Amino acid sequence: MRVAWWIVRLTIIGCSGSFPGPDSPASCYLVEAEGFRLLVDLGSGALSALQRYVGLYEIDAIWISHLHADHCLDLCCYSVARTWHPDGPRPQIPVYGPSQAAVRLGRALTADPAAAAAGAADPGHGITDAFGFTTITAGTTEIGPLRVTAERMSHPVETFGLRLEHGGAALAYSADTGETDALMRLARDADLLLCEASLVEPGPQGPALPQGLHLTGRQAARYAARAGVGQLVLTHLAPWNDVARTLGEADQAFGGPMSLAASGLGIVLD
Ligand SMILES: [Zn+2]
Repeated sequence: MRVAWWIVRLTIIGCSGSFPGPDSPASCYLVEAEGFRLLVDLGSGALSALQRYVGLYEIDAIWISHLHADHCLDLCCYSVARTWHPDGPRPQIPVYGPSQAAVRLGRALTADPAAAAAGAADPGHGITDAFGFTTITAGTTEIGPLRVTAERMSHPVETFGLRLEHGGAALAYSADTGETDALMRLARDADLLLCEASLVEPGPQGPALPQGLHLTGRQAARYAARAGVGQLVLTHLAPWNDVARTLGEADQAFGGPMSLAASGLGIVLD
């Protein structure tokens, strides 16, 4: 079916927080506009589920928010699929990632990192055979037909949230983050905020929430309310949490349309 040019389609490939769960891979989101397909994160297990929704070789670019394993490690397997196809290697595609992304993923890919570091020839392939890396910096750029604004988030490693705009639609993604004004800037008046909700609120005697790490459902919902977003989708849901509790916490703080991310969930913005 031909999709109108102004439509942005989001498909949740993986939304499990910190590690894959029984019903979802780790973080991965497919964004489509004007036939252009951008993957946002490619975490553990995501390459498997991705193939239910798009051909392996129909991806135009990949954007990696940070280098924690649950957001990037399936790039290693995907590089195998692009490099060793029986009909020959597929063309290199762009990967936008934090600084050192090629080094980090190259080390994860090679079977003998010590030999590779010493300069020995690796009989396999390198991560740059499949991907051309561009380092993300805060600011606005164009990726295909999408206007992409990146902001540094509050997380223990260099992490970028983003805002994607196309044809009047705006989608904001928190990546992994603790509380930060950057999330407000990315999400302001967005049609959809895809926001992490990894934590649950502690009870009266519980330990204080860690700072600069993750958000609760309630915190995510407060950002959605203050930023005036059209709808909120809670994601990065950790398998050890009760998602009904996460949704209940968020429901107290945001009066607009809200849902839990689920692998396979598709949302159209127009
Ligand atoms: Zn992380």
